[in-house]
Amino acid sequence: MTATRGDAPSAVVELRGAARTFKGNPPVHALRPVELTVAAGEYVAVMGPSGSGKSTMLNLLGLLDTPTSGEYFLEGLATAELSESERADVRAFQIGFVFQAFHLIGYRSAVENVEIGLLYQHLKPKVRRQRAIDELTRVGLGHRLWATPPKLSGGERQRVALARALVCSPALLLCDEPTGNLDSVTTGQILDLLDRLHNDGLTIVVITHDAEVADRAQRVIVIRDGELSEPDPRSRR
Ligand code: ADP
Ligand code: MG
Repeated sequence: MTATRGDAPSAVVELRGAARTFKGNPPVHALRPVELTVAAGEYVAVMGPSGSGKSTMLNLLGLLDTPTSGEYFLEGLATAELSESERADVRAFQIGFVFQAFHLIGYRSAVENVEIGLLYQHLKPKVRRQRAIDELTRVGLGHRLWATPPKLSGGERQRVALARALVCSPALLLCDEPTGNLDSVTTGQILDLLDRLHNDGLTIVVITHDAEVADRAQRVIVIRDGELSEPDPRSRR
């Protein structure tokens, strides 16, 4: 891949005037031109009401969608210059996704679900299996390796989803309402796990409307009608 680089050398995410408008009459300005830099190792929460543009932004960050104007640099790479197959590679190797609804395969074991996170990497099956086992152990599920999702609790399922997202050692972890389907005790466990991953140096962007989730992040960005603002951290509790 040969592509121009962004301005901030250690930035994982750089949005430069990136915007997303959906065609229609009238068009929907789901994301207004946005300036955002997320440095390596930062933990950022994006909060906003329903319809404010959170998923639109996450889809851009995850290369599931492209800005209608402006630029997105991921680890310095100008993503607009990538071909569709290069984008797929970046998604598979550099980005981990975690969703509210887990998106696990119900009839596959935890290990097999995590192995899916490595399918693009052309590893020997034995190596793939060992990495999946190691990652599940890291998220505290070493004792549930062969269970299928229906046999797991909500929090365990989300830990399998986290292991699947992390097994490719991504540069960026994107979470869309990761605790939206969990009770408060389990939410706390998942948030503790995200804290630990952050302490290990992972760059995390989590979308949430839950203040408990946002409280854990280093930075909170508010999105409203497609516009970002970043309240002064001193005004946070
Ligand atoms: P959130 O995730 O914060 O609830 P979204 O990013 O899903 O919000 O949506 C932001 C706005 O963009 C909403 O007004 C929504 O209706 C609109 N929108 C989202 N996706 C599309 C689409 N594919 N086509 C048209 N409008 C869309
Ligand atoms: Mg959404």
